[in-house]
Amino acid sequence: MNPEVLLSRIRVVLCRPSHPGNIGAAARAMKTMGLSNLYLVSPKQFPDPEADTRATGAVDVLAQATVTTSLKEALAGTAFAVALSARQRDIGPVLGAPRETVARLIAEAAAGSDVALVFGNETVGLTNEEILHCQAAVTIPTNPDFSSLNLGSAVQVLCYECRMAAFLEQPPVVVPGVTPFASPVATHDEIEGLYGHLETIMTDSGFYNPEQPGRLFPKLRRLFGRVRLEKDEINILRGILASTQVKTGHGRKG
Ligand code: SAH
Repeated sequence: MNPEVLLSRIRVVLCRPSHPGNIGAAARAMKTMGLSNLYLVSPKQFPDPEADTRATGAVDVLAQATVTTSLKEALAGTAFAVALSARQRDIGPVLGAPRETVARLIAEAAAGSDVALVFGNETVGLTNEEILHCQAAVTIPTNPDFSSLNLGSAVQVLCYECRMAAFLEQPPVVVPGVTPFASPVATHDEIEGLYGHLETIMTDSGFYNPEQPGRLFPKLRRLFGRVRLEKDEINILRGILASTQVKTGHGRKG
């Protein structure tokens, strides 16, 4: 597989960046490693001359950047998203190492999927909700007494790993969990559709009270995040849900 094609399937998503200079630094880090798909979720200030200055020769990456108001929009169409976090949270995927997780990311890209690296805000990092949109999480091993990298530096480290994996290593031909009868992997928006469907049914059945959500959805997101759902499997699960709606008279009839 052509390494440039693999790199073109990777999105770098910055969630709520506060400093335009860091957006520019991220664009520069990306371009040096051959990545170009930058997504900005609710940036505080963008476009901004400071971003252009820090991007130097990578202003084209800024010019093509996609600005969204939610992480959900930025991940639409992707099949595998990795959260970057300086610390383990009490919920969300267990933190893995950059190299192993990037190998998986490149394998997914080699299988034809769009994939994403998701970075947090400079002060507060990623929210738990943002982390729960990702199927894997990574921490860059650091000095335990000083573990937080500058946003642009964190982007640089991951983009470097992506380039090394795309160019130097043969990505595995078979993605883990793929069998000959497997259907293509489900995209982020298809999985969100399943959550929406589950929410409707569980609310109708009385199992879920939206007034007291508790940790039900974070736990369901973590469960489904572990299993690499395929399109057919989403269709089966949604078919089962739709059939119960017909029986209870809550859904479409006939
Ligand atoms: N104070 C924040 C850190 C924000 S740094 C916190 O405690 O989470 C901005 C972003 O850079 C982070 O959200 C993360 O995406 C990335 N980052 C910084 N240091 C990192 C590290 N050691 N490992 C992985 N990602 C890191």
